[in-house]
Amino acid sequence: MRQNLRTPGPTPVPEESAQAATKPMINHRGPEAKELLFRLTDRLKQLFQTQNDLFILTASGTGALEAAIVNTLSPGDRVLAVTTGVFGDRFTSIAQAYGAQVSKQRVPWGSAADPEAVRQALKEDPSIKAVLITHNETSTGVTNDLEVVAGVVKGEFDKLLLVDAVSAVGSIPLATDAWQCDVVTGCSQKGWMTPPGLAMASVSPRAWEAYREATMPRFYFDLGVAKRYLQEGQTPWTPALSVLYSLDASLERLLQEGVEQTFQRHAEVGQLTREGVKALGLELFPEDERYASNTVTAIKAPPGVDVGKLLELLRTEHSVVLAAGQSRLKGQIFRIGHLGLVSREDILNVLRALELTLPKVGFTPAGTIAR
Ligand SMILES: *Cc1c(COP(=O)(O)O)cnc(C)c1O
Repeated sequence: MRQNLRTPGPTPVPEESAQAATKPMINHRGPEAKELLFRLTDRLKQLFQTQNDLFILTASGTGALEAAIVNTLSPGDRVLAVTTGVFGDRFTSIAQAYGAQVSKQRVPWGSAADPEAVRQALKEDPSIKAVLITHNETSTGVTNDLEVVAGVVKGEFDKLLLVDAVSAVGSIPLATDAWQCDVVTGCSQKGWMTPPGLAMASVSPRAWEAYREATMPRFYFDLGVAKRYLQEGQTPWTPALSVLYSLDASLERLLQEGVEQTFQRHAEVGQLTREGVKALGLELFPEDERYASNTVTAIKAPPGVDVGKLLELLRTEHSVVLAAGQSRLKGQIFRIGHLGLVSREDILNVLRALELTLPKVGFTPAGTIAR
C-alpha cells in the first residue's frame, strides 16, 4: 500500500519530480545550470508574489531563517520576536545566537499573533529595528494574519519585517510585495512537493539597505555574494542539483494548476480536514478556528488517548503517517499535514483510518466519515 504521508514536511513528491531527480549531473557553472536557475527563480517569484530578489539556498528551511537574520542585523540590535510556537521560538533562538537583543512576545500556543500587542510593543520601544514572525506556525496549526501584522509593522512603524513562511508560501496567499515583507523564507520539502535540501529567501530593497549596515558574521549564507553569482546564473557554492531538477518539475505542475487554484485547493482541503475531525468528535487545537491553518491541522488528543499508540496503529495498519506534537505539545496533540501534493481523497483516507483506529485507543468517534 502506498504510504499516505501526511506530515507537514517532508511532503509527498509527485512521480515526475522524483524521476527528475535522477537526471544526470551537469556543470553547475555551465549554460544548462544557468537556464535552470533563472527559470526556477522566476517561477518561485510568481508564487512568492514578489518582484524582489529571490535566492535558492542549499539548506533546510532553518538555513533560510539564519540567512534572514545574519544578512539584515547586527549584534546588539533590538528585535521583536512574535512567537506562536516551536518555529517562532527557533527564529528567536537564531537571532539570539548571533547577538541580537530580542524581546519575545509570547502568544499562548494555539492562539494567533495579536496585532494590537505588536503595535503596543513597537510603541513602547522605538529602538526596535526588526520584527520576526512566523506566517504559519506548523507546530500549533495556526496561521497568523500576516497582512494585518505587516500593516502595523510596515504601515505604522516602518520596521524591518522578517517572515518565516516555510509552511505557508506557495500554498496559502502571501503577498510578499503588497504586504511589504522584507525577507520571506521557504523550503523545498513543504508545499513545493520536492525532497528536502533547498531553502528560499526573498529580499526587498529595504532589506538590502539593512544588509549594507549589518555586521553579524556570515559566510555560507551571505546573500550579497548570492546576488553577485545569480547575475551570472550561478550560486556561490555547489547547489543540490538533483533537488533543483525535482523542484523544476514540481513548479511546472504547480503553475499548470495555477497560483489561485493551488491556494483554493489548500483552502478546501483544510476545511474538509477540520470538518472531518470535528465530525469524529475530536477537537481542534487552535483556539479560534478562524486562524486554523489550511496547510496543517493540529488536533487535541482526547483525554486518556495515547498519541504515540494512535500514530503507530495508523501507520502500521493503514499506512497513514501523521505527525506528533513537538516540544511540550508532545502527547498533547497530533497533526495532519495537508500541503503540496494533497487531494480530498488523501484526507478522506486519513479520516476513515482515524475512525477505525480511535476505538482501539479508547475513544469512540462521535460520527462516521462518508464512504
Ligand atoms: C519546516 C519548518 C521550518 C524549517 O525546518 P527545517 O527542518 O529546517 O527544514 C521552519 N519554519 C516552519 C514554520 C516550518 O514548518
